[in-house]
Amino acid sequence: MDLPDRPLVIVANRLPVSRGPDGWHPAAGGLVTALRPVIEQVGGAWIGWDDDPEGVPSRVDGLNCDLHAVGLSEAQVEGYYHGFANRTLWPLFHDLVEEPVIDRGWWRIYEEVNRRFAATLEHVVTASEVTPLVWIQDYHLMLQPELVRAAAPDAPIGFFLHTPFPPPELFARLPWRDQLLHGLLAADAIGFHTTRYRDNFVRSVQHLYSGVTALGDTLILPDGRQVRVVAHPISIDVDEFADLARTEETERELADLEQQFEGRTVLLGVDRLDYTKGIRHRLQSIELLLERRPDLIGSLAFVQIAVPSRDDVDEYQQLRTSVETEVGRINGRFTEPGKDVPVHYLYRGVPRPALAAYYRLADMMCVTPLKDGMNLVAKEFVTVQSATEGDGVLLLSEFCGTSAEFGDDAVRTNPFDIEGQSYLMESAMRLDSEDRRGRVARMAEIVRDADVYRWVEDELTGIASGGHGP
Ligand code: UDP
Repeated sequence: MDLPDRPLVIVANRLPVSRGPDGWHPAAGGLVTALRPVIEQVGGAWIGWDDDPEGVPSRVDGLNCDLHAVGLSEAQVEGYYHGFANRTLWPLFHDLVEEPVIDRGWWRIYEEVNRRFAATLEHVVTASEVTPLVWIQDYHLMLQPELVRAAAPDAPIGFFLHTPFPPPELFARLPWRDQLLHGLLAADAIGFHTTRYRDNFVRSVQHLYSGVTALGDTLILPDGRQVRVVAHPISIDVDEFADLARTEETERELADLEQQFEGRTVLLGVDRLDYTKGIRHRLQSIELLLERRPDLIGSLAFVQIAVPSRDDVDEYQQLRTSVETEVGRINGRFTEPGKDVPVHYLYRGVPRPALAAYYRLADMMCVTPLKDGMNLVAKEFVTVQSATEGDGVLLLSEFCGTSAEFGDDAVRTNPFDIEGQSYLMESAMRLDSEDRRGRVARMAEIVRDADVYRWVEDELTGIASGGHGP
């Protein structure tokens, strides 16, 4: 990998560490895993919010960077994180599947917290002998590039958005649209998962500013400054998941599951319990399928792993209630006395070997979000299946970033069309096994060609080479 010739400073909502019973260690997230080899070589710092009452150490074994925790007050967490980031930007960026809340108080706190992050970054940059490369992550910190530019005029600055970027006519509803675009455009390079999100962003910029020219991947601003605007799809550590597919623990978990689900066709959903994931629509499709095909009752099982998320927010509590009502109704309607239920619902995360075992078990993986920036579960599923020569089908929403990469090898669904989706579930079950195996292998190859290390390399190279000023 081509490494930047300077230290790397990451600015993200959270720090990449967590505290277990045996002390602090690097967190398990995908971004941390992907960046560890780079940080190992170039070193640097990570700035993120952490309120651990005992304080976060400045270094943690296994992570070659200094940690700078930004502490936030309760009111700041409420306004910046639960409020503006998760109840204004999140629904707005996911095409309004919930109504975004417009609250001036939250916006002021979002600005205030962004300034706090930038103040910490200024200290880090001032103390660094070599000007670092600064890489800012996600929708929580969209004002950072401009603030960082003021604090570190010579640093290469990149920003990556991990959510979709909405069409300009939706983005335009945000009263602070100008401030966010202005904040972002101070970066040298801005990355998105897909060309569609990138194009939405470019059109928003052109809609709100006159005199902006788009030339390939470069935006030329009215003052002549250039910003690289690129599509780099995030991905997974393919070797990690291919290995995980065959560990002893995974085999043990799988043997248990195979016994439990013997003789049944297993459909699987794995999602954070978020209203963007289309879990309710998916359950309703299952219900219609069982209604139409009573012969499947008893031989079809749907397993939904719902990982708790943002459960102190009203919309998420309501979603949980409606999903659980749906599960109860389906099981109430279709369970035969003395027999197993059709829907197995787990409201919890599962350990990685169990997750891999479910991926191997599934005859069909249902990734049917109403909107999703990328969706890594789909990439993990095809990688695990292909590593064990599986023939599982991927039912994939056309409204997620992954669908732009997989083309017709996934069975593409419009999750809003609940009845149509139930027919697709039915026909996908009938696909010939060789055909299914070929599809999985081809999708896994696409993931292998563009894994998470490639994403990091493309991003860092883009930031280092982007941004030419007047
Ligand atoms: N995941 C997990 N524990 C679980 C189920 C899933 O850690 O019990 C992981 C999964 O392996 C994947 C991530 O959660 O890497 C979900 O990422 P995705 O892009 O699909 O959705 P997001 O949650 O980021 O919206």
